[in-house]
Amino acid sequence: MSELPPCPECACEYVYEDGPLLICPECAHEWAAADSAAKVYRDANGNELQDGDMVTLIKDLKVKGTSKTVKVGTKVRINRLVDEDHDIDCKIDGIGAMKLKTEFVKKA
Ligand SMILES: [Zn+2]
Repeated sequence: MSELPPCPECACEYVYEDGPLLICPECAHEWAAADSAAKVYRDANGNELQDGDMVTLIKDLKVKGTSKTVKVGTKVRINRLVDEDHDIDCKIDGIGAMKLKTEFVKKA
């Protein structure tokens, strides 16, 4: 039983896999099967990160839209890892909810 998603272009359901790609037989659209495997998130040292991990900032980061800076060495608990440019969804004491990049943290 196929669990492949329908074609994002024409909604055809007869999509098939070809290596890392998904291909639509109707409109020949090809795209990466990105969601078929869970994304692995890694810190600046290449260690795997999970939801709930404690991480430490490895550089000062300006908080967008404010004059505040989160200092290097600040400990942050990962609320959730998200598949976005800023992939760590977290909350920082004194700052509030914030998004960070995994490349700027290391596992505490
Ligand atoms: Zn299609």
